[in-house]
Amino acid sequence: MKKKNWWSILEPIITQYGGNKIELNYETPFQLLSAVILSAQTTDKQVNKITPPFFARVREARDVMDIELEDIEEHLKYVNFFRNKSRYIKETGTILAREYDGIIPNDLKLIQTFPGIGIKTAKVVLAVLYDMPYVGVDTHIHRVMNRLGIVDTDTPNQTDREIDRIFDTHTKQLLHHPLVLFGRYHCLARKPKCETCKLQKDCKYYQKK
Ligand code: SF4
Repeated sequence: MKKKNWWSILEPIITQYGGNKIELNYETPFQLLSAVILSAQTTDKQVNKITPPFFARVREARDVMDIELEDIEEHLKYVNFFRNKSRYIKETGTILAREYDGIIPNDLKLIQTFPGIGIKTAKVVLAVLYDMPYVGVDTHIHRVMNRLGIVDTDTPNQTDREIDRIFDTHTKQLLHHPLVLFGRYHCLARKPKCETCKLQKDCKYYQKK
């Protein structure tokens, strides 16, 4: 596929979902970071269900220093891998409070050195907080990009590298939320809603059906 076609293929998705924001609830940057850590292997809906009492205790990074790990685990016990995630939130919050004055640095490489912050989490947080041109590739984005034939990859990490290579800065700034929402609500993993999809003619998956 020629580069000039990618934008025209993705434009309907950006037009439909472009005004939307991340579906995780938060009030502060550290709460956003915590919610994104919690959302791995868990739906945003479930994260939003369990975070209000936790966020009432933990507003800023420094607040994790006043709450025991067991207490954090008790708040977060209804998300997958809550023990690891609780430890990541406590350790990362402590590092941010002690070394960065509680502020999340706008540095992709640096924040990946914090406990529990992988490439996807780092990119989502920086895109949302600082409007940086990153696409945090999750299973939805990985699936959509492969079905459309824009990439041909086996893992989200490979898709991440391909997106970085293929798209310019401006396009990457626009892509994250529309692609996640399109994958979450339209191009579903098991039963994609192809009959109402404007992308049929450009979709490799649909053309092979
Ligand atoms: S045609 Fe179907 S598989 Fe292709 S992008 Fe649309 S919903 Fe997804």
